[in-house]
Amino acid sequence: MLLKIVSVGDKVLRQKARPIKPEEIQNSYIRDLIAYMRETMHDAPGVGLAAPQVGQPLQLAVIEDKAEYHKNLSATELKERERVPIPFHVIINPEIELLTPPGVSFHEGCLSVPGFMAVVPRSRTVRVTCLDEHGKAKTIKAGGWFARILQHEIDHLHGRIYIDRMQSETFTTLENYQKQRKP
Ligand code: ZN
Repeated sequence: MLLKIVSVGDKVLRQKARPIKPEEIQNSYIRDLIAYMRETMHDAPGVGLAAPQVGQPLQLAVIEDKAEYHKNLSATELKERERVPIPFHVIINPEIELLTPPGVSFHEGCLSVPGFMAVVPRSRTVRVTCLDEHGKAKTIKAGGWFARILQHEIDHLHGRIYIDRMQSETFTTLENYQKQRKP
């Protein structure tokens, strides 16, 4: 089932999401939500989707960066961004630790701010501790684009959107971004 993705201006995107109790994770409500969020992210398509983006103020996000999404990027762009395929996974109640200062700047977009992009400085490496979809504790050490996705999605769980962190003079429509991209 596809869920409706809410856009900037909806209050749920500015709420602090609540943690999910470990015993809640196996409830059909959460299991279905994860399945529907996965489907909705693929359909969009996007590389991450946080529960508040589908109207649920819960500390849950899904992430997957498929190789097929990279075909419109040059080898140089992929290398600069340190962007590699990331298999599907679920993060619940994540705690993020920035291992480097937010010194890496690239354009990013958000399914809740459709049609726009901006340069957002992010940390190159992060460590995230969270629960997976089975309620099992895990630690993710991530670098490059994966670290950016994690920072973006975890921001959503704290009511933050990339426009809060962007270099505002770089804010652009997707159309103008594509036009100005170097071939
Ligand atoms: Zn987003």
